[in-house]
Amino acid sequence: MEALVFDIEKFAVHDGPGIRTVVFMKGCPLHCLWCHNPESQSFKTELFFTPEKCIGCGWCVSACPQKCHIIQEGRHLFDREKCISCGRCASKCYAEALEVVGKRMSVAEVLKSVLADKLFYDNSNGGVTLSGGEPLAQFEFTRELLDASKKAGLHTCLETCGYAPSEKVRALLPLVDLWLWDVKATPEMHKQFTGVEYKPILDNLRMIDEAGAKMWLRCPLIHGLNDSEEHLLQIAELANSLRGCQRIDIEPYHPLGEGKAQRLGRSDVFHADFIDKAIVKKYESFLTAHTNVQVYSPT
Ligand code: SF4
Ligand code: SF4
Repeated sequence: MEALVFDIEKFAVHDGPGIRTVVFMKGCPLHCLWCHNPESQSFKTELFFTPEKCIGCGWCVSACPQKCHIIQEGRHLFDREKCISCGRCASKCYAEALEVVGKRMSVAEVLKSVLADKLFYDNSNGGVTLSGGEPLAQFEFTRELLDASKKAGLHTCLETCGYAPSEKVRALLPLVDLWLWDVKATPEMHKQFTGVEYKPILDNLRMIDEAGAKMWLRCPLIHGLNDSEEHLLQIAELANSLRGCQRIDIEPYHPLGEGKAQRLGRSDVFHADFIDKAIVKKYESFLTAHTNVQVYSPT
């Protein structure tokens, strides 16, 4: 079984307990306006192009079977419309101005990479976290990788937007030790900000809670979109209503996604103002005042 993976991050300390390896799977059914990993959204391999790194050597021009690259009067023009993501140009670009995003990997390959750091997980109560993109969107691979991880004695986390058929979510219950469940917007604004309705997500969350699952709620806060008192209160009330909720993570907007979207050639680059640390602390205090669940912010 294979899946399209766009990154494997080692020594992660924010995506579940202890030291972890995070496997980022490519492709997501949501299109959050503020996505800080826009390269995770498409289910296809893509190409990052960073013009500032290009030294104009022309190796990509001769490598490309589709004639996507043209160097003209010192300018590098890249026609993405014709690109078939074969990666030949990136393999010739020693300046790393071109980079393939997404690699097909087998469960065995990913597990081998994950297990290389087992000692660190054992000493820190860490483990493996599957993230994305949306791991549930590549369900068979996710199930097999979680199963293999459990058999190898690893603690497993699944970071999810929760938008998937309930039978798939239910099938993973015995394989996930901790769910990292996104709470992105008020029910009224959810579709506008993410492209999908909130109800199936909430139904899945209630279902795993009734089944005895443990979860952390992961809450991106984007200034002017979802950092309202109303939304914060809804997060607190949701956490209070879940038996298995252990923690609320506040995730203030990070502009990392803007540069990535530009490197993907996107025309719809989203921008929001950075949320000041003092304001994040205020949100943390507000949530703490309305829930008994631990609230965590990265400040
Ligand atoms: S191979 Fe890389 S550095 Fe050379 S022209 Fe192409 S993008 Fe620029
Ligand atoms: S990935 Fe392949 S088709 Fe796309 S620009 Fe590079 S060489 Fe051309």
